[in-house]
Amino acid sequence: MANSKEQILPDNGSRFLTYADHMRRLFGGRVQKLSVDAGFTCPNRDGRVGTGGCTFCLNEAFNPSYCRRVATIKEQIEEGMAFHRNRYRKASKYLAYFQTFSNTYASLSELQRKYAEALSCPGVVGLVIGTRPDCVDDDVLALLTEISTKHFVAVEYGIESCYDATLHRINRGHTFNDAIRAVQLTVDRGLPVGGHFILGLPGESREMLVSQVDAINAMPLTSIKFHQLQVLKGTTLHRQCLSEPQFETSMLHFDIDSYVALVCDIVERLRPDLAIERLAGEVPPRYQAFQERSFRRPDGSLLRNEDIPRLVNIELSRRGSRQGRLYGKTEE
Ligand code: SF4
Repeated sequence: MANSKEQILPDNGSRFLTYADHMRRLFGGRVQKLSVDAGFTCPNRDGRVGTGGCTFCLNEAFNPSYCRRVATIKEQIEEGMAFHRNRYRKASKYLAYFQTFSNTYASLSELQRKYAEALSCPGVVGLVIGTRPDCVDDDVLALLTEISTKHFVAVEYGIESCYDATLHRINRGHTFNDAIRAVQLTVDRGLPVGGHFILGLPGESREMLVSQVDAINAMPLTSIKFHQLQVLKGTTLHRQCLSEPQFETSMLHFDIDSYVALVCDIVERLRPDLAIERLAGEVPPRYQAFQERSFRRPDGSLLRNEDIPRLVNIELSRRGSRQGRLYGKTEE
């Protein structure tokens, strides 16, 4: 499926293939991801790969409120189901999304136990495992492949950038080739793979962000997430912004119009069969180092995550365009 390069746009008028529609087709109905903090750590923090972590990282800012390390995996999933039942349309199928830190970074027995706990919850039909590209090996992939004989299993890699200089600058601790290798090994096992990218990392120009789409398209990804770089309080990136003026000037600053225009330029070049799961990120304002940079409406109110796909659709419609219109074409 990942390489069919065909796109059947949903009949809801969207000009790009959403992950929700992709999953609806797979499962025959709405499937809700429930975030889980399973108590893992990260090799880029504990010294195995590096210390201090990626310069932008503040994991607690990215977790939903029901996702608490003090609760068991089962409790988090039950709270997550209640949270989504209260707020959104009812889903009858759920995926446990191992989101926080590196969710393949433990002994095989611990991984097995934690994945099994999630799958034992009624309504949970599968797992989405978020991890680093340098944090999987044959044994971990064999375990995930075995689970996938009975349940849905997808792996989501934080790739962040296709440029090694950027990955080095943000203390990522792996290269883009590591990401290519991990994605391929995982796809070779028959598992669908998602990639996560950040737009606006230090030193990256708008042109670099658009031209890296060719490298993204070349990977056998099934789904993709993008979000704008957000500088969070207390991170290394925040300290660099305050103390090193070159970091500030080496970062793109977006308002909502320039961000939507960039995202549309990217979406137009994306492989048509890539399911787009996210186009922007949103963390609670209390974590934001520069709240004045949040995306806002003309009246000053904050735009929410769900507003961004709508604005991207409006802009693609204005252009008479859609996902993949420029895929495989040289610049017009
Ligand atoms: S972003 Fe992921 S890989 Fe980087 S420090 Fe945070 S948990 Fe570790």
